[in-house]
Amino acid sequence: MTPFLDLKSINAQYRSELIEACTRVIDSGWYIGGNELTQFEQKFAAYCGTTHCIGVANGLDALILTLRAWLELGRLQPGDEIIVPANTYIASILAISANGLTPVLAEPDAASFNLSPANARAAITARTRAILPVHLYGQLADMPAIMALAREHGLLVLEDAAQAHGASISGKRAGSWGDAAGFSFYPGKNLGALGDAGAITTHDDQLAQTLRALRNYGSHEKYKNLFKGINSRLDEIQAAMLCVKLSKLELETQHRRALAAIYLQNIHHPGVQLPQVASSVQHVWHLFVIRTQQRAALQQHLATQGIQTLIHYPIPPHQQQAYQEWSGRSYPLTEAMHREVLSLPMGPTLSEEAALRAAAAVNGFNA
Ligand SMILES: *Cc1c(COP(=O)(O)O)cnc(C)c1O
Repeated sequence: MTPFLDLKSINAQYRSELIEACTRVIDSGWYIGGNELTQFEQKFAAYCGTTHCIGVANGLDALILTLRAWLELGRLQPGDEIIVPANTYIASILAISANGLTPVLAEPDAASFNLSPANARAAITARTRAILPVHLYGQLADMPAIMALAREHGLLVLEDAAQAHGASISGKRAGSWGDAAGFSFYPGKNLGALGDAGAITTHDDQLAQTLRALRNYGSHEKYKNLFKGINSRLDEIQAAMLCVKLSKLELETQHRRALAAIYLQNIHHPGVQLPQVASSVQHVWHLFVIRTQQRAALQQHLATQGIQTLIHYPIPPHQQQAYQEWSGRSYPLTEAMHREVLSLPMGPTLSEEAALRAAAAVNGFNA
């Protein structure tokens, strides 16, 4: 049996270090907003190559609070348009809606599944104020082109880096390209906590300061509230878990790359399209996503051989009940992807033998 992602075996590798870190927090008597959080924020900012990292409760809050901070700072106004890829995980779009801003969906690039700079350019109107590229499946969007477009039109850029910890172009990592970036440390992400957690990275001092208040009731100083903030904090236990996990991330990413190389070299099937990686991009393979017009049959075929696959994602955001106001719209490329994508097993504890077996099983599929 090859599970899609074996979280238990991932964390079991670091069991003694995680328990030690947990014990340290328990014995410290300090559980929110302490040394563990500061340590993690400093380490993760250094890892991404930014001056600031602000820990929050989850990845969705990281995106929501960044847009909220730009509203508080007067850089965005209610109703402003934000361009976002139509095929993203819905959280990117929810963050825009949650702030009374207007999501403008753009079709992705067919090769990378990421926001197409040309389609983003075509979506710009007089009300556009920001672009929210998503580094889907662990591959950076075309950030050089997106940043150039944003600078040309005076737009803010918020990266959704929830799937792309450590991904880079020319050595410059996810989280350091835009004006800010939101990360998720949901347990199944490449850098996963043992519960919910998230963070924002940025080079912007003023934004960082505003975010530190917004995550804590709008307050920098106890009982003095500058903003109508919320409670969205990354607690000490999760920060301590993340310090351990961050120290393992590069090795884990190398393993993901080795598995992806096995899939890319060994899967040969006329009905299966492999993911395409631009040569300048250092993919971190959060997911290994193939495309096929016979998805249900291939998924069933793999399941009978004990190989678990998942679909990221089955229903595009514009066809969700939550966005019924968009039900009449059509994004053909996005809709085709949602019909055809299938994610093969991928993770830091998946063996190379298991990846080879999965590749052989794909090759043995008779449509
Ligand atoms: C996981 C994810 C999020 C949300 O992160 P949570 O920590 O689950 O709130 C946002 N965007 C994308 C692309 C994601 O994959």
